[in-house]
Amino acid sequence: MAELSGGIDLGGTKIQTAIVDSGGEVKGEARHPTPTEGDPEDVAEAMATALREAAEDAGVEASELQGIGVGSPGDADEKTGVVSSARNLPGWEGSFPLGEKLTEALGAEVKIGNDVQVATEAEFELGAGKEFESLLGVFWGTGVGGGLILGAKPWLGRGAAGEIGHMVVKRGGAKCPCGREGCLEAYAGRKAMEAEARKRHEDGEKTDLFKLMEKHDKPRLTSGIWERALDHEDKLTEELIERAIEALGTGIASAINLIDVEAVILGGGLGIRFGERLMEPLQEEMDKHLFVNERPPAVRVASLGDLGGAIGASLLVGR
Ligand SMILES: [Zn+2]
Repeated sequence: MAELSGGIDLGGTKIQTAIVDSGGEVKGEARHPTPTEGDPEDVAEAMATALREAAEDAGVEASELQGIGVGSPGDADEKTGVVSSARNLPGWEGSFPLGEKLTEALGAEVKIGNDVQVATEAEFELGAGKEFESLLGVFWGTGVGGGLILGAKPWLGRGAAGEIGHMVVKRGGAKCPCGREGCLEAYAGRKAMEAEARKRHEDGEKTDLFKLMEKHDKPRLTSGIWERALDHEDKLTEELIERAIEALGTGIASAINLIDVEAVILGGGLGIRFGERLMEPLQEEMDKHLFVNERPPAVRVASLGDLGGAIGASLLVGR
């Protein structure tokens, strides 16, 4: 059993865990909602519970694992296991020794990495990016995150590379959850899209989005709700999705103009749900802004799906 590792993908809405063997195969998994109230201790406890469940699913104890990796939002320090400023998580404005706390709780060594970067590395090693030497991972979900592989190696810059969600697609544009204006995420992030939908609805625009949200008993406009509304040809939904695609196409093409990678891997909750369906309009939008558009990069939907983040996190073990 020594070859099994654990992976935890800590998201703003859910904690996905997986037990993975040395070939990248998932042997057990579990998912819990991310606590919306409390503090980092509560989040760590929910993470430990979810990981134990995944271990049980795989028929092992957490303490028998070779190690456990965590893909974390915010500023995740790989060396110390400390996570700071994870603002999508409750009470996490400061720093919290997540690695140390989880090592204690689970009885196996826990390593911390950046959530989007580990998901990008998983797609590069085992998923939709396997055949490429260089790629840009774009994770379209609550926010819009990015990861980079250049010359077959992760590129972290000084620790903050890949923040494609905060590339400016419109100067002086919409307010971004980061506090700045005109970022890609201000148009395409699920959270920002929900805020815009709410505002327009309150201003009198008709939409079924919020009715669907209540009907399906969801606390927020999930990617599934957006999809249902799109299926119903809800006008506001169509407009906001189109606006998101325009922003994504602009931001991604601008990034390609700079780094000219072979492929773009589109992941995240919305990316996985809408990737195939909206591939054509996305590529058309990119095409408008690509400086060299005779050979656009391959655009692929992440193939490890919802488990990509957890699988990527498990790759931190033994590094
Ligand atoms: Zn921003």
